[in-house]
Amino acid sequence: MSRLWVLGAGQLGAMLKTAGRPLALDVVPVDIDTIDALHLHEGDVVTAEREQWPETLATRQLASHDRFINRDVFGTLADRKTQKALIDSLSLATAPWQTVTTDTRADALHTALGERVLLKRRTGGYDGRGQHWLKAAEPGEIPEGWHDQAIAEQAINFDEEVSLVGARDSRGNCVFYPLTLNLHVNGILMASLAPLQRLQHLQEQAESMLGTLLNELDYVGVMAMECFRVGDQLMINELAPRVHNSGHWTQAGAHMSQFEAHLRAIADLPLAPPMTKGITAMVNLVGTERNNQWLTVPPAELHWYGKSVRPGRKVGHININDSRPAVVRSALMALAPELPENYKAVLDWLAEHLRD
Ligand code: ATP
Ligand code: MG
Repeated sequence: MSRLWVLGAGQLGAMLKTAGRPLALDVVPVDIDTIDALHLHEGDVVTAEREQWPETLATRQLASHDRFINRDVFGTLADRKTQKALIDSLSLATAPWQTVTTDTRADALHTALGERVLLKRRTGGYDGRGQHWLKAAEPGEIPEGWHDQAIAEQAINFDEEVSLVGARDSRGNCVFYPLTLNLHVNGILMASLAPLQRLQHLQEQAESMLGTLLNELDYVGVMAMECFRVGDQLMINELAPRVHNSGHWTQAGAHMSQFEAHLRAIADLPLAPPMTKGITAMVNLVGTERNNQWLTVPPAELHWYGKSVRPGRKVGHININDSRPAVVRSALMALAPELPENYKAVLDWLAEHLRD
């Protein structure tokens, strides 16, 4: 049996490995800094849990393998400039933007993009890092070292944030999960909820957008599309060529998780349209110590990543699934005293949107 190698050994790699077990798929996440020689074979498949990686012994070996799936996509999507240019070239809606060049000035950005402009570093940003707001009301300049390294985006006054996770197989068949409602606080995903009846009318629009991208890139595997909802119009915020945090709810809420969908696609196994069960709330555990009291609250399912805890670091998540929204809500309320104070707003947000 051939092996599926994952470039990167964080929580996404670990969850891919777990998802491979019932299918007897040999999934091997690889720490990018490993000094062990990898014994790759011709029939093996290589995928990645991250968009970008430094040149190391391991990444050189993995990325040069003949069956590194989507090899050419990572470069395009890892750089916000080429990612946004791709979205524009397909006439898909996204926040108006421009490149920050050597001589770009803040006032010129305000003239072109408006009162509030968000600078985003072209590469390496995640969880809201690598972003800088420019507000015409509080004059500021482009930070040192950001020229040529960033794009500038118009601030979007969105109603809410949603995402779509989809998968495409090598024959071009695409499947999609229902749209997910997401709560970001200071740029970090804190909670997700899916599926929601009231988002159903946007599903076709979202699938058409992501489907266009998947086909254009001849992509194989799972991709996530983060969007802003502005009325009935979706605008793409960003794309992730991998399994995505906003798809973690599928572990509890679908017959096939996003991790399994990705593996099926890259291993050339049949993909099937995901069937969802009930409603699922996902709460991200960010910078908080493990608390085994969480385990006393059914039907909460804990996924603890076993990483050291640091402020702002994603260290686990909890999925709560049931066919009855009231049961999900009760579980959230039972978790509240066992989570830090700042989670009150997150749990309230989930409880409110569970009403659908
Ligand atoms: P991720 O961890 O998902 O990769 P990120 O740090 O790479 O996130 P973005 O998703 O681009 O960066 O931005 C993080 C959050 O910042 C968004 O979820 C949204 O809440 C806010 N944001 C981003 N772009 C805009 C914009 N143009 N207008 C208003 N808010 C924005
Ligand atoms: Mg994002």
